[in-house]
Amino acid sequence: MSKIEAPRGTKDILGDESWKWAYVSHVAQGVVSDFGYKEITLPIFEHTELFHRGVGQTTDVVEKEMYTFLDKGGRSITLRPELTASVMRSYLEHNMARGSQPQKFWCIGPMFRYERPQKGRYRQFVQLDIEAIGSRSPLLDVEIIDLSMEFYRRLGLKNLQVVLNSVGCPECRPLYRKALQDYLAPHMSELCESCQGRFDRNPLRILDCKNPACKAITENAPSILDNLCDDCKSHFATVMKALEKLGADIKLDKRLVRGLDYYTKTAFEILSGDLGSQNAVCGGGRYDHLAEAIGGAPTPGVGFASGLERVILTMESQGATFGKEPKNKAFIVTADDNALLEAASLANILRTNHIATDMDYMARSMKTQVKAAAGTSDFAVILGQDEIEKKFYTLKNMATGEQESLSLDALIEKLK
Ligand code: ATP
Ligand code: MG
Repeated sequence: MSKIEAPRGTKDILGDESWKWAYVSHVAQGVVSDFGYKEITLPIFEHTELFHRGVGQTTDVVEKEMYTFLDKGGRSITLRPELTASVMRSYLEHNMARGSQPQKFWCIGPMFRYERPQKGRYRQFVQLDIEAIGSRSPLLDVEIIDLSMEFYRRLGLKNLQVVLNSVGCPECRPLYRKALQDYLAPHMSELCESCQGRFDRNPLRILDCKNPACKAITENAPSILDNLCDDCKSHFATVMKALEKLGADIKLDKRLVRGLDYYTKTAFEILSGDLGSQNAVCGGGRYDHLAEAIGGAPTPGVGFASGLERVILTMESQGATFGKEPKNKAFIVTADDNALLEAASLANILRTNHIATDMDYMARSMKTQVKAAAGTSDFAVILGQDEIEKKFYTLKNMATGEQESLSLDALIEKLK
């Protein structure tokens, strides 16, 4: 029979890597709690309609990347490709506008997109998602950017660039859209095929096309920052001023867009200089019209999502540390079969005293067991014939090689 492997674009996170994930998640939890965000846990799948309306029909995500299927009841279901639409759905469904505003949420969990897998791009990947819903304050945009930077600072990441833009609002964007189309029209035949298709449906998306020909054409395109309405202009100015005050190193990028109507004002990305072409460690911005798009009352919001695989890849390539790899406290080394039963009961006693303990189950030689102890544990507890007869334990410190004989009580005391 042929062997079954994990589906393309997915990754098993094994024991020798999972502690890195635990570390990153632990650091994230410290940051979000310092910023006053609360955890929210939402379904992995939602009604497809939520993403059609909440992510947008003309996005790559909805057009090409969703895992959509009919369930046994004939409903169209989609594995979530992102979290913002779900968080807003939940906010509206539970009438959270009644509480004090803004409501601030965080979540770490898997997302699903049918993409071409490559380094830093998977079909199942994990995001840290941060959303602040219910306030229009530009200082909340700044808080979100600051939170993301603080997360990367605590992880020890270097060589990151924050790029920022404003995408305007339904008042000023149509005018900009027209100005952009007027600029692009004479170059229509030079644009790539996808961009020719975007010209009418979603011309702003042409600005972030990776095709070199399209890039060359949009280089001199009019800037949305020169076309903002007064409200968007003053919002952007406050964001810039507050970021400056924080000492944040920001680059403006007039081509950074989220070409959908409910994305408004602030858009930002954080790029890693160590990731090659999948270089965005996070993307975010304001979405003051998302709630209406999914059938709710007007509700402003701002947030970001960070791909944790890319964060970990960047940490690895920069030689950042993941804290200390967790070790067991004790490994019980047994001389023979006779000692095994004693070892099992000693393991039970140590574990119930909250001392992380492992032992040998494979009747390996004592030398091999001591080696295993050195690799996995701070101490070896040696249980030979002598020890069992005279009721004591030999404790060996694996770092110093020091050895001592102890009673059970003294052993527990020492290992604790
Ligand atoms: P990209 O331009 O790299 O496709 P995106 O604009 O589709 O990114 P967002 O939807 O803004 O990404 O998602 C936020 C973050 O999630 C990205 O900045 C990235 O860190 C991560 N991410 C997105 N897609 C993937 C993927 N397929 N695999 C791994 N991480 C991903
Ligand atoms: Mg993408």
